[in-house]
Amino acid sequence: MRVTVFGTGYVGLVTGTCLAEVGHQVTCVDIDQAKVDGLNRGVVPIFEPGLEDMVLANHGAGRLAFTTDAAQAIAHGDVLFIAVGTPPDEDGSADLQYVLAVARTIGRHLSRPAIVVNKSTVPVGTADKVRAAIAAELSARGAEIAFEVVSNPEFLKEGAAVNDCMRPDRIVLGSRSAQAVETMKRLYAPFNRNHDRIVVMDERSAELTKYAANAMLATKISFMNEMANIAERVGADIEMVRHGIGSDPRIGYHFIYPGAGYGGSCFPKDVQALGRIARQAGYEAKLLGAVEAVNTAQKDKLFALAERHFAGDLRGRTFAVWGLAFKPNTDDMREASSRRLLELLWNAGATVRAHDPEAMHEATRIFGTRPDLVLCDTPAQALEGADALFVVTEWKAFWSPDFAALKAALKAGVVFDGRNVYDPAQVEAAGLAYYGIGRGRSL
Ligand code: NAD
Repeated sequence: MRVTVFGTGYVGLVTGTCLAEVGHQVTCVDIDQAKVDGLNRGVVPIFEPGLEDMVLANHGAGRLAFTTDAAQAIAHGDVLFIAVGTPPDEDGSADLQYVLAVARTIGRHLSRPAIVVNKSTVPVGTADKVRAAIAAELSARGAEIAFEVVSNPEFLKEGAAVNDCMRPDRIVLGSRSAQAVETMKRLYAPFNRNHDRIVVMDERSAELTKYAANAMLATKISFMNEMANIAERVGADIEMVRHGIGSDPRIGYHFIYPGAGYGGSCFPKDVQALGRIARQAGYEAKLLGAVEAVNTAQKDKLFALAERHFAGDLRGRTFAVWGLAFKPNTDDMREASSRRLLELLWNAGATVRAHDPEAMHEATRIFGTRPDLVLCDTPAQALEGADALFVVTEWKAFWSPDFAALKAALKAGVVFDGRNVYDPAQVEAAGLAYYGIGRGRSL
């Protein structure tokens, strides 16, 4: 099938590439000329495991094209995906300007029947707005062209996006058009062979499903951080508690890790946006407010531990930071806990020596050059001259350090483990002080 994808970010590029991988003819369109030029030269602008090879192979095979020419891209596709950003507005609601701009562009250029599929995470009722925006442009030029709008929220996880896209847990299709659903089922058939993963519903339910999924996941994290905060005050170890509760199949082991707070481009903005959607509908979603408040406080946690350890005086100290991305296997630093930690350390007069396996270019882009930040090529370099180490992102490469070497390198001999990846006894056996999240001994 002939597919067009608007937006070549994490969702658009991965979706377009995976659709090309299974044989569809895909054109990806973006307004960012540099990004499109780079992709046409084989430069993949984001890090996702497996993505680069797949982009190069499908581009080389002629199944995956990149352009900034929206008219040409619209002429190409029978199915037109919208996968552009929906960043938070000033009041926390999702900013629909990019989604609606694409809808208007489609309305301006559509010349034959098509299905418009919204993949961006959008407030309930957006499918109607997209439909109205396209219809208005069509009628402005006196064109009568049939089109359908399908809500098809994306559930991929950054860091595992290609795998999630190739082997989705579920494919949600929000549409009341049997014909559009049939076409979408044909498009997704290669991803749906083993068993039926397609869940068909109305557009509004599909739109809310995405927010509900992210809000539930964010809630699990904030719940565990709440438990960790109780654990450390009562002398319990949250890691023991985690194993204890995860063994109940109704709870399960997935996604119940305490830590230095969630970040990324989705959970923070989607929890906020859902709260806003509820408020606009006359309902105060108290749980969502609490999830957000717990997370905001949790992002200060590592700094608070350091402040306490150093008796409030961090001025002139140097800290090694391992991990800048908001989670492992991505270069994405949007809303990352590391950013809050760095800000607090800098405000306290400390210097940071940071390393991340993939996010160094992002860090340079975000922070530029400043005297209190040294970006280091290796984890070992980050330790040079440092008083203490913060582990902020649980990259596998950080899981088994040589603790004797850490002891030798760190002047004050302290490890702040923001993801509870170490065994406190092992760290302490090397003569280091250990602080984790909710591990009984943090206070
Ligand atoms: P992104 O910011 O990485 O990419 C968005 C892209 O859209 C950019 O390249 C931008 O230049 C392009 N764009 C903006 N306006 C355009 C236009 N008029 N025409 C063509 N391209 C245009 O965003 P993302 O992380 O891929 O997220 C996209 C949507 O998917 C958001 O609504 C997000 O909430 C949702 N989502 C994201 C994830 C994730 O893990 N990142 C997962 C599921 C859903």
